[in-house]
Amino acid sequence: MFKLSYGLFILTTKDGNKDNGCVINTAVQLTEHPLRLSVAVNKANFTHGILAKTGEFNISVLTQSVPFPIFEQFGFHSGKDTDKFASCDYNDRTSNGIRYLPKHTNSVISGKVSATFDFGTHSLFVADVTEAKVLSNEPSVTYQYYFEHIKPKPKTLNTLQKGYVCKICGYIYANDVLPADFVCPTCKHGASDFERLN
Ligand code: FE
Repeated sequence: MFKLSYGLFILTTKDGNKDNGCVINTAVQLTEHPLRLSVAVNKANFTHGILAKTGEFNISVLTQSVPFPIFEQFGFHSGKDTDKFASCDYNDRTSNGIRYLPKHTNSVISGKVSATFDFGTHSLFVADVTEAKVLSNEPSVTYQYYFEHIKPKPKTLNTLQKGYVCKICGYIYANDVLPADFVCPTCKHGASDFERLN
């Protein structure tokens, strides 16, 4: 599945005064007339609950200049316990009132959910595009570019360390047996995205 190509996006939502967002790679244009897109979101993400409740979101399209800390900020912990925007020196919002990322992005697309499909671990949201604007001409980042140029290379691991490492975020599960239903506590990817350390 790593041969499939994807973009990388920050999906932002808002519930009352609570702003939140997460990293996704699953935003896809669905139709042109009307302009619609689909977004798949893991139910383990706090953002999923807000989106299911409010039905409104923004997609910030990340560019190749995006630094790794943006992925740590939005991807590796939950908005349940933290304010993911606490360290931000910007407060840009589209007309739906939802925040977006003005830096390391080339566009923002606002969506209003018209249908939701339940696929077990994920929901697929189909949405009408309500607003869209171009922010820069920088190339969009792909998942492959992230792996090759942005994600830090794993530090030299202690060769005696046993266990499994998450290929997505680097989390180490220090145990001899990785349960088949294991879910990475930091990035929410499953056991198939882990590899043995030695
Ligand atoms: Fe992970």
